[in-house]
Amino acid sequence: MSQKNLKIEQAVEQMIVALGEDVGRDGLVKTPQRVAKSFEKVFSGYGKEPRDILTTFVENDYDEMIVVKDVEFYSTCEHHMLPFFGRAHIGYIPSGKIIGISKIPRIVEIYSRRLQNQERLTVEIARTLQDLINPRGVGVVLEARHLCMMARGVEKQRSSIVTSAMYGLFKKNLNTRNEFLKLIGK
Ligand code: ZN
Repeated sequence: MSQKNLKIEQAVEQMIVALGEDVGRDGLVKTPQRVAKSFEKVFSGYGKEPRDILTTFVENDYDEMIVVKDVEFYSTCEHHMLPFFGRAHIGYIPSGKIIGISKIPRIVEIYSRRLQNQERLTVEIARTLQDLINPRGVGVVLEARHLCMMARGVEKQRSSIVTSAMYGLFKKNLNTRNEFLKLIGK
């Protein structure tokens, strides 16, 4: 077992004890181990950088907007360590370089599988595209529901948080921005 997993197991065991539970009882005895194992996936974004896995292509003929919408993501709120999850919509207008469309969800995946806040996650996705292919514009919209909000009261069960990051033409040009919003159904 890795040193990291061992530390997580020990910490989870302490939390369970702090709650006044019996770590030895049937349902809990393997919980620290299971939590450490599940963290491997939930926090698998650490130690990865999008630029290492992404390939870009030269493409001089296509200069219209490219939109990838409804990319499901699961992240963990850094304030409460509770999940927030929803959909990401990403659009850009290339300027000579494009990125494999299937790679865009990988960017979302790498940044969401960390302790995050939704605002930073949104900006990190947008900036990565901006830096990698220097497009004429980038737009990223995230809509998510946060368990830390939902668990606090029935009246907040349905609220979702929407964040956006717009660069280049998506920021400067109202038509571009509106086209993007229309394409993602907003
Ligand atoms: Zn929270």
